[in-house]
Amino acid sequence: MSARTFHVWTIGCQMNQADSESLARRLLAAGYRETDLEHADVAILNTCVVRQASEDKVASKLHELAGWKTPDRTLAVTGCIVAKEGERLRRRFPHLDALIPIGRYDEFVQELAARSDYALGEPLPAVGRTGVSHYVNVVQGCDHNCTFCIVPKVRGREVHKPLEQVLEECRRAVAEGAREVVLLGQNVDDYRDPGGAGGLAALVRAVERVEGLRRVRFMTSHPQDLEDELLEVMAGSDVVAHELQLPVQSGDDRILKRMARGYQVRHYRAIVERARRLMPDLGLATDVIVGFPGETEEAFQNTRRLMEEIEFDVVHLAQYSPRPGTFAGERMPDDVPAEEKRRRLNELLELQRGIAARRMQRWVGRKVEVLVEGTDGLGRSFGRNRQGKRVVVKGARVAPGELVTVLVSEASAGQLGGRLAA
Ligand code: SF4
Repeated sequence: MSARTFHVWTIGCQMNQADSESLARRLLAAGYRETDLEHADVAILNTCVVRQASEDKVASKLHELAGWKTPDRTLAVTGCIVAKEGERLRRRFPHLDALIPIGRYDEFVQELAARSDYALGEPLPAVGRTGVSHYVNVVQGCDHNCTFCIVPKVRGREVHKPLEQVLEECRRAVAEGAREVVLLGQNVDDYRDPGGAGGLAALVRAVERVEGLRRVRFMTSHPQDLEDELLEVMAGSDVVAHELQLPVQSGDDRILKRMARGYQVRHYRAIVERARRLMPDLGLATDVIVGFPGETEEAFQNTRRLMEEIEFDVVHLAQYSPRPGTFAGERMPDDVPAEEKRRRLNELLELQRGIAARRMQRWVGRKVEVLVEGTDGLGRSFGRNRQGKRVVVKGARVAPGELVTVLVSEASAGQLGGRLAA
């Protein structure tokens, strides 16, 4: 009898990708084989609820899988939707067999094995699954309570992975071929080793010493928690990326207060000044929400001015939509008309397009250190520089995992290009 097979379908953030990877490893270790959705005996949907569109995607996938499901097959859902909508999903989709709370993968795999009449295969090593870049979740959940955000409700309070366990995962990833690790947390700056070895700066310092690692990145930061020590570790290291994902959300103090972000614009500005003083080429990405309840034209213009002043490399822009279950969604009237939100969004998109193009142009004529990740659709090697920019290597094939120096000769909105430097 053939071994049972599984497929994990994933949407959402990098933390979900890391969770899916960890679930897949457990299934492989239990003797399951990985395959595509159509041929799988066990399908697991790893879900996201940050936007309504993500929830709709999950519902439509579950509808679609009604025809796939047979008494022999198992359909399970994990991820953020479980805490928020789990029981409702069960009622709406009776063909759904199991809800797996985030992180409770061992129990699920054990239950699955106990239920199965099939012989499982030999445990499979996970070799070959790890690419050049490997995600490691170091903080689960979030202790903040931003009024627009559903994460604390669905992922719960923070749980911090012991530093030794993170190091072990990093070493294993390197042994399997990774050359970069990305330390993940909804609010990664809040990381504290439960054994008392320190915060994120101590963790990054320990991880950068893992033999064979060529780059360490981390995300997402929070302006309230980011410490100077971390900036110093970044600036003083050849391995840690000079890159921050630092959501500002608004450039207006009154709106920041309504969002319960816990900082003011001047604090944010001061962090960016310090970081750029230590790392003049810092790659800086942020998130901005337009049309939050109470956002007047003046408040919106404050955000616009902050974007002009700081000149972010990347801005993830979103127009506010109320999420049931959040404080803002339930207690603050959604008072900016949809058309006005769209106008504000488009205005900032247009502004950022120009800024991003200028920020990319400044690399032309300079040498950058690129960690090669793979080959693009045109057969060219590509990777990222230390500041997180995608770089295409022209005229040479470079093995994934190699660190090379590229002389940048061209820049577009999304990437840089150039030849290997002599
Ligand atoms: S810091 Fe705020 S926005 Fe980020 S996950 Fe926590 S509650 Fe959500």
